[in-house]
Amino acid sequence: MIWYRASWVLPIEAPPIRDGWVAIERGRIAGVGSGKRPGAIDLGHVAILPALVNAHTHLELSYLRGAVPPAARFLDWIGAIMAARRRVRDTDDPVILQAARAGIEEARASGTGLVGDTGNTLVTVPLLRDAAMPARVFYELLGFNTDDPAGRVLEARGHVDRTGGTGADVRVSLAPHAPYSVSPGLFSALREDLDAHRGDVSSVHLGESPEEVEFIDRGTGGWRDVLTGLGVWTDAWQAPGVSPVRYLADLGFLDSRVLAVHGVQCDGDDLSRLRALGTTVVSCPRSNRYVGVGDPPIEAFYAMGVTVAFGTDSLASVQDLNMFGELAAARRLAPRVSARHLLESATRCGARALGFGEQFGSIEEGKQAALIAVRVPERVDDVEEYLVSGVEPAAITWLDAEKPQIPNPKSQHHSGTTR
Ligand SMILES: [Zn+2]
Repeated sequence: MIWYRASWVLPIEAPPIRDGWVAIERGRIAGVGSGKRPGAIDLGHVAILPALVNAHTHLELSYLRGAVPPAARFLDWIGAIMAARRRVRDTDDPVILQAARAGIEEARASGTGLVGDTGNTLVTVPLLRDAAMPARVFYELLGFNTDDPAGRVLEARGHVDRTGGTGADVRVSLAPHAPYSVSPGLFSALREDLDAHRGDVSSVHLGESPEEVEFIDRGTGGWRDVLTGLGVWTDAWQAPGVSPVRYLADLGFLDSRVLAVHGVQCDGDDLSRLRALGTTVVSCPRSNRYVGVGDPPIEAFYAMGVTVAFGTDSLASVQDLNMFGELAAARRLAPRVSARHLLESATRCGARALGFGEQFGSIEEGKQAALIAVRVPERVDDVEEYLVSGVEPAAITWLDAEKPQIPNPKSQHHSGTTR
């Protein structure tokens, strides 16, 4: 058994504990409490909290970091990304693999312990396993004009099974890309696949750009031009004439096992629908601004009772994979949402949405001891507010769950030994 003591412990499922301790046994949390604990390793002025959850990123796009500058219009950004992706032909090019590996390490160094990783290939699955980074990998399908949706899904399932299927900590499931790039038939086939795999969860980009709203409402605008340019437009597709959220809800695709990524364009009706369906919105505010779709209505998400998680999106649209940076952006956009709720979104809500609620996301007995210690200045009274104001990787240490960890003598002091 190892005991760690710190100025603050944030269990997430309970308010922060001043002068708290956490006990770890064989990699799992064995207890949490407050007060003196003889024999505990004192980590000093730090906050111990569960590792953060990045509920939406695309590690396979890490090699495009800085490749496309911020855009004023989403279609300009997407066009530039599509062109950049065509320049690297092989999906397992060493450039892609190296950047993805570095992305995983960058995420870990900034305190992330679980990722929702969306990709059009499965190249990140062995990388995540090798790096021991727990993940839900979403194998993402596109197909606006598909003859045989069920066949496409079956084929994708085959690819998933050949990657070694579902390992303990890296679990793969299927996901549609977005309402403007996936046919109604393919949405239905993916929903059937989800219903047939009870342990899976799925994800979809939803309500990201104003162009998506126009296209789903009237079938016109920039997306229509893109689909025509790609040669996949079909007159068989009828504009649903509703919002993107309403469209996917009517198709029966959305429920509590689906993550709706972005939701920037959601109105009050959309949000009550998402809340009623139990769908988690994954907000990526830094990416939203970068790609020119505007700011997400984060205060409205919380005010309407929608479950919120956070993600960084890919390094093609954000400067780093630091979830504390994402939290700081959310805090700026939503000053009336409590820091506690924001932190819960970046931990427990993300873990649950990804299907890892039993193992990660809070400090509770039996959960995996995926814990970080964040250095907090002595003068800080409101530790939750401090943690959503931006934290650099240099201030973050992972707690060793296997052997006692001697704290850094510069900022902390040692007052005991382990049992
Ligand atoms: Zn995305």
